[in-house]
Amino acid sequence: MSKDKHTIVIGAGIGGLTAGALLLQAGHQVTVLEAHIYPGGSAGTFYHQKYRFDAGATLAAGFSPDGPHGRVAQILDLQWPVRPADPAWLVHLPDGRTVTQWSDPTRWREEWITAFPDSGDFWRTQELLAKISWDVSSRPFPWPPQKARDFITLARALRPATARALPFLFRKISDFAPDDDPMFRSFLDGQLLISAQTTADKADALYGSAALDLPRRGVNHVQGGIGSLAKTLVDWIRANGGQVLYRHQVERIDVKNGRAVGARTKNGLRLEGDTILGNVTPWSLGDLLADAVPRKLRRELARRQATWGAFTLYLGLNTETLPKQVASHHQVIIDSNQPLGEGNSVFISLADAHDSGRAPEGRRPATLSTHVAIAPWWQLYQSDHQAYLRRRAEYTNRLLAAAEKAIPGIRGSIELCLPGTPVTFEFYTRRSSGMVGGFPQTSLISARGTRTGIKNLWLVGDSIFPGQSTAGVTLGAMRVAADVLGASG
Ligand SMILES: Cc1cc2nc3c(=O)[nH]c(=O)nc-3n(C[C@H](O)[C@H](O)[C@H](O)COP(=O)(O)OP(=O)(O)OC[C@H]3O[C@@H](n4cnc5c(N)ncnc54)[C@H](O)[C@@H]3O)c2cc1C
Repeated sequence: MSKDKHTIVIGAGIGGLTAGALLLQAGHQVTVLEAHIYPGGSAGTFYHQKYRFDAGATLAAGFSPDGPHGRVAQILDLQWPVRPADPAWLVHLPDGRTVTQWSDPTRWREEWITAFPDSGDFWRTQELLAKISWDVSSRPFPWPPQKARDFITLARALRPATARALPFLFRKISDFAPDDDPMFRSFLDGQLLISAQTTADKADALYGSAALDLPRRGVNHVQGGIGSLAKTLVDWIRANGGQVLYRHQVERIDVKNGRAVGARTKNGLRLEGDTILGNVTPWSLGDLLADAVPRKLRRELARRQATWGAFTLYLGLNTETLPKQVASHHQVIIDSNQPLGEGNSVFISLADAHDSGRAPEGRRPATLSTHVAIAPWWQLYQSDHQAYLRRRAEYTNRLLAAAEKAIPGIRGSIELCLPGTPVTFEFYTRRSSGMVGGFPQTSLISARGTRTGIKNLWLVGDSIFPGQSTAGVTLGAMRVAADVLGASG
């Protein structure tokens, strides 16, 4: 393929950068336009008062040779700056028990037998479904199928073992999970909320089983912070003749005769392209298309409910007063009778203790986050700023109280504390209303694909299947790159 095909990528998130790099490797000329001054979006690392804080994502999976990042490394011949983390994280349950998410399968088996002795049948089914899901997704996996060729590829990917998953195609995780132990359900719900954006009663059985298996697939610390993944891709794109332009916020996609023909940035750059990839949410894509939004996308935007936002805290910690030997990653669930999120489930990540470049001597950065509904934040932000600030202070306290349960004494170590709300996320990641993490994975049948209603304009990132996480958007980006190459043949 010649370099005369120009692909414009709007956004330097992991999805946009990965798709851009794969298309560059395949012979396209590639320009990535990024609004911010660094790449990574929700998986970016920002610099503040000599700390390097992870903005959202803190843990990365999928680096084994058959994992999404591992496969991209082989295709592009690049090295990821990662180091395995085991245990992956510790789950602190409302009854005071702690369950360790070991990557090592033997230790994990011992762990669940001790914590939830009656859950054996569940874990055996989950393991079987996860194995099938990971196996299928490690081959070309055009899901959801969009054209005849996708159905043929999927049919070829089927193995006799795959048939064992068919009875679960329309089922939820809760359909085969014991429901008589509230701590077990809290545990499951907590894991699924961070990996599938929904809880056991709604999470698709196959997707949810694969998501529950993430710690066993290997989880990693990223040297320099999670943003080093995006930085690695930016360096690769630039070294191979592509362009990544920061401070270039796209404000309009030009459409002529039903084709996307170019992108215009706020600072006056106008680029023409043969293919455009939007590493944005469908709502943001609608804004960029303005009057040219195709009818189908317009209907989708009207129909879809808002997705989760995040409330985050960025802490600068004094390591002298932190407990020694503290694990890096924790999830705290406060009350099993209340819905998760909104400070009732909190993820806490301390930067890798071996990564000295993340903070001044004797200090360590941490990122805390909880799922939140976006609407109350925006209502207060727009109508009553004092009430917005009070809510922010209240959520700060909720997250710190949760962190105390995981790491007693952590409050006394805090030297710097920055809160982030959906308003902050919208400002820094340009994701509309600060919605993060993509769509809840409730059904494989209704999964969102790559199409936008305009033939040469594609979505990439966590709004398309398989959704959130750096590994998830990487799989999605491989799909988009294959679709673009298939279409431009
Ligand atoms: C609090 C939190 C915790 C998380 N924890 C984890 C975790 O531990 N592990 C994990 O794997 N995942 C985690 N995730 C999810 C993961 O971060 C995301 O799913 C993933 O990074 C999204 O990638 P993306 O490709 O959709 O791009 P995004 O992250 O959405 O980035 C899009 C980029 O496009 C840019 N952009 C947008 N609009 C424009 C425009 N008009 N012009 C130019 N540029 C534009 C933005 O500035 C941004 O850089 C977490 C997410 C959050 C919010």
